[in-house]
Amino acid sequence: LLRAEGISRSFGNTPALREAAVSVNAGEVLAIMGPSGSGKSTLLHCLAGIFTPDSGEVWFDGRRLDTLDDGSRSELRRTAFGFVFQFGQLVPELTVADNVALPLLLGRTRRKPAYARAASWLERLELGGLGGRRTGELSGGQAQRVAIARALVTGPRVVFADEPTGALDSLTGEHVMELLVGLAREEGTTVIVVTHDARVAAGADREIIVRDGKVTDPYASGIVR
Ligand code: ATP
Ligand code: MG
Repeated sequence: LLRAEGISRSFGNTPALREAAVSVNAGEVLAIMGPSGSGKSTLLHCLAGIFTPDSGEVWFDGRRLDTLDDGSRSELRRTAFGFVFQFGQLVPELTVADNVALPLLLGRTRRKPAYARAASWLERLELGGLGGRRTGELSGGQAQRVAIARALVTGPRVVFADEPTGALDSLTGEHVMELLVGLAREEGTTVIVVTHDARVAAGADREIIVRDGKVTDPYASGIVR
């Protein structure tokens, strides 16, 4: 479904990715691990069409993503991708329901069906009673569940998550991750998750390790099992 071939990206004189390659099947849950500064977030941003690689190719669903014009690329991101980051990036002044309905309203869904879909996703994330609360008043685990609801509400093909549990204690993080992976599997959504947590990675179908801007397969290289 999504594939990067030989992608490189530098920031000034710092090479963040060096000919990295990765390929993700539809419906697969892929964990990206590796040391701090190794290029995980840069890889995720390139796969999601947020960063353009300096060289190499990114393909999504048979289309070349890295050479698309900005307009088509942001349209693709809005309709086909969902995002969950370490700090949920919710709008704190808005309610939980507003935050989750927002991507639908931006996509010109009418208010009533948008809020109905938002409410059903909030139920699925065990947030049923919290629709009217402002997101600034939530606990870390609640906020990340709202962020997941917001990422899934549009029915994306791929969800990109960058350390979605990084700001949570390990038990809460594990539960949040279980919800994300469980719902993604129910929906057939592909998930690409950057994590430092081996227990989070254990919930994925496959795990890759980024080192010095290169992707290594932990099975092929004998790092795992
Ligand atoms: P972490 O686990 O700490 O989040 P990471 O594996 O996600 O690390 P990246 O954020 O991809 O690492 O960074 C890879 C390299 O690129 C690092 O050397 C970093 O300093 C550099 N880098 C990343 N983003 C930028 C940026 N916007 N400007 C300058 N340098 C950057
Ligand atoms: Mg990172």
